Amino acid sequence: MSEAGTVFSSLDLDQGFLETLEQLGYVTPTPIQASALPVALAGKDLIAQAATGSGKTAVFALSLLSRLNLKFFGVQALVLCPTRELADQVAVEVRKLGRSLDHLKVVTLCGGVPIRGQAASLAHGAHVIVGTPGRVQDHLSRETLVLGGLRTLVLDEADRMLEMGFIDDMVAVARQCPPARQTLLFSATFPPQIDALAKPFLRDPVTISARPAGEALRIDQRFYEVLDETRLIVLASLLAHYRPGTCLVFVNTKAQGRDVVSFLQDQGIVARELSGDLEQRDRDEVMVLFAGRCLSVLVATDVASRGLDIAALDAVVNYEVTPDPEVHVHRVGRTGRAGVGGLALTLVGPRERTLIRRIEEFTGSGPTAWSPTADLEPSPLGFPVPPRAMLKLLDGKKDKIRPGDVLGALTAAAGFTREQIGAIKVTEWGTWVAVDRDLAERVLQAFATVPVKGKLRRAVKI
Ligand code: AMP
Repeated sequence: MSEAGTVFSSLDLDQGFLETLEQLGYVTPTPIQASALPVALAGKDLIAQAATGSGKTAVFALSLLSRLNLKFFGVQALVLCPTRELADQVAVEVRKLGRSLDHLKVVTLCGGVPIRGQAASLAHGAHVIVGTPGRVQDHLSRETLVLGGLRTLVLDEADRMLEMGFIDDMVAVARQCPPARQTLLFSATFPPQIDALAKPFLRDPVTISARPAGEALRIDQRFYEVLDETRLIVLASLLAHYRPGTCLVFVNTKAQGRDVVSFLQDQGIVARELSGDLEQRDRDEVMVLFAGRCLSVLVATDVASRGLDIAALDAVVNYEVTPDPEVHVHRVGRTGRAGVGGLALTLVGPRERTLIRRIEEFTGSGPTAWSPTADLEPSPLGFPVPPRAMLKLLDGKKDKIRPGDVLGALTAAAGFTREQIGAIKVTEWGTWVAVDRDLAERVLQAFATVPVKGKLRRAVKI
C-alpha cells in the first residue's frame, strides 16, 4: 500500500479533528502519520518505529481521542512516557488535538510532584492519563487510579523507558489493563527487550517503520576529523559557519560538558549546560530558556537530554562520538523534524575512528564521507545570537497568573505586538516570558509600570 499523497480527510477521523488539524496547520500527514494512523484508527495494535519529531504523538493522540466516550468520566486512555518533560509535552499535544471535544480531561501523573494533589485530580474524573511508569504504578497500587474502563494503552519511547529501568513498572501497569484494549508501542530503536515486552502485551500487532529511505536523507550528516587539542576550536568554527538558531551539543561526560560550556561562554556564545546534577528548578530554567529560543547552544550528555523535546532543533553536534551506534542514531534524529531538514555534525578524534565504523555497520550507511574543516569559513555575522531573551516575573501559578494575563498586559497595556513576545510559561513560583532580544530592556521597564493581573510584578532579566 502506498501512503504517498495521503491526506488527513481521507482518514477515518471526525470532522472536529479535521478542523483542529487545519487550525493547527497540519496540512500533510508526516510519513509515520500516513502509514500508522489508518492502522491505529482501525483499532489494531501497533508497533511503530518513530523518533521524536516524526509526528508520532499525533498518531496515538488522534487514535485514543477518537475512541473516547466523553460522557463516561473514567480513564479510557493511558500514555506511558519515560520522563516528566515528555509527559508534559504529550499532554499538551493531546489537549491541542482534542480541543473539539467538550469537557475533555487529561491528567499527567509524574514523579517529583506530591501524590496527594494528583489523587485529588483523579477523584474528579479523567479521560486520559499521561504519566511515567513508576508514578502510574504508585497510583494503581493505592487504587487512586483504576483502569477497568481503559480502551487504549500507549507506550511512548518504549526503548527509553527500558533504558531507564522502568521494565517492572511497565509490565505491572500493562497487567492491570483490561485485555480487550488497543496497545500502541512507539520506539526509536528496537533492542531485543522491546520484543520481549511486546509479545505478551500486544495482540497481533502491525509493525511500521517510520523511516523510508528518503526520510533518513533529510538530515544532512557531516563528519569532521579533529585532534583532541583542536576539538573546541573546530566546534567554534562550526557554530560561526552554520550559525544554527538552536543547537544541541552532545558530550559523553559531564566533565567534558562543563569544559565545553565555559569555553563557549568565553567566546561570547549564549550557552548553557543541561546536567543531571542540576536541581529540578535549575533544570526547568535551562529547558525553558532553550525552548524559548533564548540560548544558542545547549550542551548535554545523553542522560541529561532525555525527555528534552524541542520542536525545532536546527542542528545537533556530536562533540564526541558515542560508543553506542544506537545512541548516535538517537542523537542525530533530534534534528530535522516533521519534514523540515536538519543538520547533524560529528567531530571525530583519532581514537574515535573505530566508533565511526561501528555506526557505518549499524546503519548500513556505507563509508563515511569526511568534510574538510578548512571549508568552515566563518559567517560575516559571527557567532549565532539567540533570537529571544528571557525575562522572569517572580510570581507564578500560586498568584493565579496565566500566560494570557502577561500577554494581555504587554500587548494591550504596554503596546507590544504578539509577534514580539515569545513563549510564556507559568510555573508554581515564577513566570517566564521570552521576548525579542532587542526589546528585553523595554519590556523589563514596561513591567515596572504595567500591572499583571491587577498588580505590579517584579521582573528580572535572566
Ligand atoms: P512529535 O514527533 O510528535 O514530537 O511531533 C513533532 C512536531 O511536529 C510537533 O511540534 C507537532 O506539533 C508537529 N507536527 C506533527 N504532525 C504534523 C503535521 N502533520 N504537520 C505539521 N506539523 C506536525
